[in-house]
Amino acid sequence: MHDQYDRDINYLRVSVTDRCNLRCKYCVPKEGVSLIGHDDILRYEEILRVIRVASDVGISKVRITGGEPLVRKGLIDFIAAVSAIDGIQDISLTTNGILLEKHAADLFHAGIKRINISLDSLDSEKYADITRGGDLQAVLRGIEEVRRIGFSPIKINTVAIKGFNDGEILDFVRMSLDRPYQIRFIELMPLGSLENNGKYLSNEIIMSEIKKSCDLIPLNGKRAKTDGPARMYKLDGGMGEIGFISPVSHHFCFSCNRLRLTADGHLRACLLSDDEIDLKTPLRDRCSDEDLAALVKNAIENKPFNHTLVNDGNHLKKCIKEMSAIGG
Ligand code: SAM
Repeated sequence: MHDQYDRDINYLRVSVTDRCNLRCKYCVPKEGVSLIGHDDILRYEEILRVIRVASDVGISKVRITGGEPLVRKGLIDFIAAVSAIDGIQDISLTTNGILLEKHAADLFHAGIKRINISLDSLDSEKYADITRGGDLQAVLRGIEEVRRIGFSPIKINTVAIKGFNDGEILDFVRMSLDRPYQIRFIELMPLGSLENNGKYLSNEIIMSEIKKSCDLIPLNGKRAKTDGPARMYKLDGGMGEIGFISPVSHHFCFSCNRLRLTADGHLRACLLSDDEIDLKTPLRDRCSDEDLAALVKNAIENKPFNHTLVNDGNHLKKCIKEMSAIGG
């Protein structure tokens, strides 16, 4: 279904939990966040119903996210059920990778072939610091495992943070030389109650750092092809690719095709706008599929044209909800 700006809205990101086994400093405040009560988190059968109805409205791609999706029990069976929905042609997962080694084969067989792994440092101590205790080696083993099994593409998402991982940019870039990974640099966004001011690093700065040491070859000619919101490049002779996702400096709202279903059952048409439509109440009041479809259509019809961030990493308007509750 097209929205009022003629964007084909065909992509639903589903947060299956707000719980996470990491506490990334830029994502979750030190004191933690108040977690959604168990009863207020959508049950799998409720999520499946939303996806089924949304697929009738034109959603064909689903990404499972969180919180950390792999901490929710029953995820593999849920994914297999999503894969079986007519009209869902593409299902992918975003994870921090901590539990990936253990679950990779089951995920693959349940229908996940495309995977995004978040990784902000290749240094064990720094990784433990930014994630407040995460084990880098577990993530690296998970990445190796998905490569061994044959997931494709394998996207490694790195949030660039000034004064934290700006010295590791080339280490990440080099991972794309002899391995088929898409390394994607993502600009830090001002979300929730975060202390991110002054840590924003634009992708232009990262690109110019990379270009001091190696050529970035745009994929598909002079203008880098886009892969979703990423502008894509590669190194000469590299097996993998390098992408730049610039939600702050070059917003891609004009081509945004997404809706988000939050863990507490709200439909959100823009990551950075707190306007949401409550689906949980009507679901639990036994609404009809037609009523549910009307709410999904309403979200699409009222999807804002663009977000309200200012192109200045230090003075950005914030939205209220944490990324962990919305689903990244
Ligand atoms: N737990 C999963 C993971 O780590 O990939 C999925 C949820 S996490 C919220 C999804 C993504 O959002 C991660 O790649 C994380 O780095 C990113 N993220 C969280 N807060 C962010 C922020 N303020 N700016 C940019 N990206 C952010």
